Amino acid sequence: MNGERLAARLDELSKIGKLDSGGVNRPGYSLEEKQAKEMVIGWMKEAGLAVSIDGAGNVFGELNGCKQGRAVGSGSHLDSVPNGGNFDGPLGVLAALEVVEAWKEQNYVPAKPFVMAIFSDEEGSRFKSGLTGSRAFMGQITKEELDSLVDEDGKTFAEVITAFGSSVEQYLHAASQKGKIGTFVEVHIEQGKVLERAGEPVGIVSGIAGPAWVELTFIGEAGHAGNTPMMGRKDPLVAAGMFIQAIEKLPEQVSGTAVATVGKINVVPNGVNVIPGRVDLVVDIRDIYEPARDQLVDLIIEKAKNISTGRQIEVEIKINTRIKPVPIAEDFQNRISKAFSKYDIKPNFIPSGAGHDSMILGTEIPVAMLFVRSKDGISHNPREWTSLNDCVYAVHVLKEVLEDLIETEN
Ligand SMILES: [Zn+2]
Repeated sequence: MNGERLAARLDELSKIGKLDSGGVNRPGYSLEEKQAKEMVIGWMKEAGLAVSIDGAGNVFGELNGCKQGRAVGSGSHLDSVPNGGNFDGPLGVLAALEVVEAWKEQNYVPAKPFVMAIFSDEEGSRFKSGLTGSRAFMGQITKEELDSLVDEDGKTFAEVITAFGSSVEQYLHAASQKGKIGTFVEVHIEQGKVLERAGEPVGIVSGIAGPAWVELTFIGEAGHAGNTPMMGRKDPLVAAGMFIQAIEKLPEQVSGTAVATVGKINVVPNGVNVIPGRVDLVVDIRDIYEPARDQLVDLIIEKAKNISTGRQIEVEIKINTRIKPVPIAEDFQNRISKAFSKYDIKPNFIPSGAGHDSMILGTEIPVAMLFVRSKDGISHNPREWTSLNDCVYAVHVLKEVLEDLIETEN
């Protein structure tokens, strides 16, 4: 493999949608995302891959194996969040490509077919959606959902996708291809600080957490802040405050990887001199283990009820999102661990709190993810940074893991 080529290509990609801040803006289904794909398609063809694009704009580069069968896949995405960085997505795409380049130089013919993939619109910044490309590929998106999507300029999804030479029908047809990938490995920046603290270039994703969102409304009695004595108040914000504080201690009761966060709160009427009448908040609850995550949801609901009863406040509770966490098979984690040992890298097992294309593929096929150290854990930001040395380690390990999966039964 060639580190200089990888650096030069990351640099070329960073110029597409470049902003004065040094970040990039490449929303899904924008001209910039398309240009980035076209640039990489050119490199994929040079590397000997047979390139095809499905109705969702997902790009596949295929390499025949000695035998027929479902392919081993690797890749990521090229779209970004607004004012995003240069590594989230592109690193996973270019790492897969660099492995293909190395194979070409070695005249390596895989036993099984290999597919390099670029999934469209992972971040979902344009339509406030996300993972739409990989969901289309796996048949996990409906016509109803696509019809409901409108971007900030008021353009419908159908209009946007038609301008790209596809249609909603062709978009949904992307799912007809899903059988071709049998296993998938994605390289991605860590978006956290575990590897930086451990002093290791790469780590093993132990599972991809699925979020559950619990919406709560605490209902009390609004009143004048001056005229209502402290005794007998029914202040829902005090209850909400107690609840938020209590939540902090609950995740550790169910698992070492569970997390719960209140990041959104709405106080009604939100006046300086008014005791609130109502407080709406949402708890984001995640874990890589579904039973633990669901147990945490139950504990949090129980806590909300207890606090409300104790303070004679009403509480309404609704669970409005419950996405299945995706486990990473132990066998896959072991294969990565084995590859690490060749490079003297200590295995760090890290749960992924964020969703990735692999999470969507992982609902039906075995997947694995490799995290690469990211400076200060920063992501979705122009300051996102991973050293070339760490990127090169990621490619070496990815190559080992892909060859292991290609050469052995799984
Ligand atoms: Zn990403």
